[in-house]
Amino acid sequence: VDDNLLGLTLADLQLLGQDLGERPFRARQLYRNLYRRHCFSLAEMTDLSRSFRERLAGRFTIRLPAVERRDRSGDGAEKFLFRLDDGHFVESVFIPDEDRITLCLSTQAGCAMGCEFCATARLGLQRQLGAGEILGQYYAIAAARGLRDQAVNVVFMGMGEPLLNYDAVMTAFRILADPEGTALSRRKITLSTCGLPDGIRRLGLEPVRSRLAISLNATTDESRSRLMPVNRRHPLAELLAACAEFPLIRGERLTIEYVLIRDLNDTDADARRLIRLLRPLRCKINLIPYNEIPGVLLRAPLEARVAAFQTLLVAAHYTAIVRKSRGADIRAACGQLAAAVPGSGETPPE
Ligand code: SF4
Repeated sequence: VDDNLLGLTLADLQLLGQDLGERPFRARQLYRNLYRRHCFSLAEMTDLSRSFRERLAGRFTIRLPAVERRDRSGDGAEKFLFRLDDGHFVESVFIPDEDRITLCLSTQAGCAMGCEFCATARLGLQRQLGAGEILGQYYAIAAARGLRDQAVNVVFMGMGEPLLNYDAVMTAFRILADPEGTALSRRKITLSTCGLPDGIRRLGLEPVRSRLAISLNATTDESRSRLMPVNRRHPLAELLAACAEFPLIRGERLTIEYVLIRDLNDTDADARRLIRLLRPLRCKINLIPYNEIPGVLLRAPLEARVAAFQTLLVAAHYTAIVRKSRGADIRAACGQLAAAVPGSGETPPE
C-alpha cells in the first residue's frame, strides 16, 4: 500500500481527513502545505493540530524520490537521477534559460514505444510512475535548486510516453496547475507525446489541460515507421487528423518536435513535405539536431543543413526554432535519458 501523502489530490485528502475525524478545512491546509508551501515534514505543519499530525504520522509519510546522482552540464543544464522506493531509476532535467527554467519530468520508468533515436527505448517499459513520483521529481529539483514556482515551466517529456500513463500524469498536472496547489500557469505545462491519436483526443476533451507537443520527426510513413514503431499502428494521416481536431484555445498552438537526423529526415524535400503536412495545423516547430548515442547508427545533422531546413520553414511562415540540445555532455538531451541501469550503456550508480 502506498503510504506517501505526496500525489494525493485535495479530494483524496478530504476523504482521509474525514476518516480521521477532522474538519474539511484541515485537508485544505494539508494540501496547501504540501504543494503550495513545499512543506514535506508533518512536524513542521504547525498550522495543523498536533493530534491530527500524530494520527497522520501513524499511517502516512511524505517522501520525495531520492536523488541518486546529479550531473551538471557546461551549459547550465543539470540531470537528476532519482531512485524510486522500489529501486527503479528515473531521470529529470533542469534546463535554465535567460528568462525561464524548464523541468523535464519522466512519467514512466523506461518506455515501451521503441523510438530508434531514443536511449530510454532500450530499457523497455519497467513500470508506470504514480502521480506522487511525477510530482516528486518536481519538488525534489525545486528543493535542490531553490526554485520559485512562478519561474518554472514543466514538460512531461523525460522517460516514458505520458499518454500511456494518463491518469497519473493528469493528476500530477492538475495539482501543478491548481491555484491552491503548485499554482503554475497551465500554459507553462506541456505534455509531449510520440503520437497516440486516442490519447490526444482524450486530452482534447479535458476542461483544463496542458499544452500539447507532438514528437513528429519524419514526413513519410516509411521513414517515420523506421524511426518510431508507433507509426506502424498510427500512421501520419491518422496522427495529423487527431492533431487537427485538437481544440486549441485562443492564441494556443501545438508544438511539433522534429529531431533532425542526417540524410534521414533533414533534406529540403523533407522540409517541403513537412510544410504541406502541417498546413491544417496551428503550430510552431522545434527543430532538434540529433545527438549521437553509442550503439545507434543515426548521425547528427550538419549545421548548414539545420539552417537550410529552418530557412524553408520560416519562408513558409512557420515559427521554427532550433533547440540546441542542452546538456548533451551529460546525456540529458532529447532522447538520451536512459537512467543508469545495467545494459543501457551507462554505469549503474555505486
Ligand atoms: S522518444 Fe519518448 S516515446 Fe519514444 S521511446 Fe523515447 S521515451 Fe519513449
